[in-house]
Amino acid sequence: MTETITAARESEVVAAAETRLYIDGQWRDARNGRTLEVHDPSTGKVLATVADASVEDGWDALYAAQRAQQDFAAMPPRQRADILMRAFELMHQRKDDLALLMTLEMGKPLAESYGEVNYAAEFFRHFAEEATRIGGNYQTAPAGNARFVVAKQPVGPSILITPWNFPLAMGTRKIGPALAAGCTSVLKPAELTPLSMLALARILEEAGVPAGVVNIVVTSTAGDVMEPLIRSGIARKLSFTGSTAVGKKLLEQASDKVLRTSMELGGNAAFVVFEDADIDQAVEGAIAAKMRNSGEACTAANRIFAHESVIDEFSTKLAERMAQMPVGRGVDEGVKVGPMVDAKQRDKVAELVDDAVKSGARVVLGGEPAAGEGFFYRPTVLSQVPEQARMWQEEIFGPVAPVSSFSTEDEVIAKVNDTPYGLVNYVYTNDLTRGLRVAERVESGMVGLNQGVVSNPAAPFGGIKESGLGREGGDTGIDEFLETKYIGIQM
Ligand code: ADP
Repeated sequence: MTETITAARESEVVAAAETRLYIDGQWRDARNGRTLEVHDPSTGKVLATVADASVEDGWDALYAAQRAQQDFAAMPPRQRADILMRAFELMHQRKDDLALLMTLEMGKPLAESYGEVNYAAEFFRHFAEEATRIGGNYQTAPAGNARFVVAKQPVGPSILITPWNFPLAMGTRKIGPALAAGCTSVLKPAELTPLSMLALARILEEAGVPAGVVNIVVTSTAGDVMEPLIRSGIARKLSFTGSTAVGKKLLEQASDKVLRTSMELGGNAAFVVFEDADIDQAVEGAIAAKMRNSGEACTAANRIFAHESVIDEFSTKLAERMAQMPVGRGVDEGVKVGPMVDAKQRDKVAELVDDAVKSGARVVLGGEPAAGEGFFYRPTVLSQVPEQARMWQEEIFGPVAPVSSFSTEDEVIAKVNDTPYGLVNYVYTNDLTRGLRVAERVESGMVGLNQGVVSNPAAPFGGIKESGLGREGGDTGIDEFLETKYIGIQM
């Protein structure tokens, strides 16, 4: 699947990368000529210089989306579906370049970048299929004297804001349903990883997305550029993936003009291993749930609870598996753990581990940043992490697995639910009744039952409590971009 990456190949892909804003079907620099630097987190070196939008560029993008909305909503659903299918195919044709670019700007191992290109493209295929299935309803009023026609219409121009950890998939997960529903958009990718989204914009252009329908605004001043656009009410929808803190701020801004909102926010997933679980399967699940994306995922297992009768076996095997995961540049063969995305992220991981160790946790494996250039942190397993340690409450977002024991089902469920977050939890047991009972009682939008990865474009992804609002993907993902209109007819 992967190729051996030479320095020349890296330079070739970066040189060919698009670095300008994409607004109203035009590739252009920021109006004031401002630029920002994108770094390779495995070396800390500058990878590319990208146009850095100011608020004027943001307005250009939003007005373009507004102008394009009416015609785009009138485009036949089949035509919108065909555009999405062409984009899906182009992503597969370009997968080598897309994967390499993603690894270079974000750090994840190349094999995982290939996985993400595939996952990201699947959102386009899924929503191509949904585009032609937008239904409605016809109903007789209970009194018999009227008819109800219920129609679905695009919500309108949408603002989409995405994070750096899945630079392509978090974009296609929003652009896919927006296009399928007939909504135009302004997408702001994370400033740390804009190259993947700009590469995707080229694909969308080639696939036939009309000018103004998707606009990409990269900026180092997200708050200044986006706030007036959100507050203007020109966009009727805000879809955000990122931290709970920023999500709350954006919800407040969206309340000005009562925008529809979808929020995919932080998580604090628990991973529960019952005494009757297949321990080897649970270890593999924990590796997937913890180490995918080097732990930089909102779905990452943040708190691992193993039953007191199996905790020794489970922790030993988990540490053995994590010790075998080579750390290095994502482009190098065999690497399983890449760098953290930047120094800030690496330092945050180090701070949480130091805090846990100071409060009494035992280091089973790792426990420190890796020496040398780049922002690496060693795969780490901690046991006996005391309750007051910050990492039980805060997202670690790194390759650090705190393991703790429990004795009863009620006790562990209380621990799992003792967090303001509710995105996903993982449960390992060979007792199906127990598995379903626990799955029903844990407070989260998603549960992995004997499964360490839940993301799937055909399933509804999303959280409850402070993990968010709404669902992406699945058969309801498109509803986030549709309004319901009821027409009452007197008979
Ligand atoms: P993370 O912790 O994953 O970096 P953030 O919530 O900080 O999460 O960032 C997610 C996305 O939100 C990024 O695209 C970032 O630029 C954007 N963002 C951050 N702050 C704001 C803001 N005040 N207004 C709009 N977008 C923001």
